[in-house]
Amino acid sequence: MLASDEFLPASGVLDWSDPKRHWAQRPRPCRFCKGPTCLRDEGGRPSHKTCAETYRARRQAHTVQVYAQRAQLTDDDGHA
Ligand SMILES: [Zn+2]
Repeated sequence: MLASDEFLPASGVLDWSDPKRHWAQRPRPCRFCKGPTCLRDEGGRPSHKTCAETYRARRQAHTVQVYAQRAQLTDDDGHA
């Protein structure tokens, strides 16, 4: 399973408005694009918000795809 902090809210946009949680004084390389950022994700890792949103959206799309391939959805009669 994915960790809860790897999910996007239904809006597709993260709420990182709390500076105590998501802002640091010193810029560090974003974990995704390596560009400098003062933003931190839920786990305290340096990350641009847009990078985190893009990553999570891709990951969720991938997860949906994997489930769709694995799950043989059947109706009440057991037909695929
Ligand atoms: Zn980035």
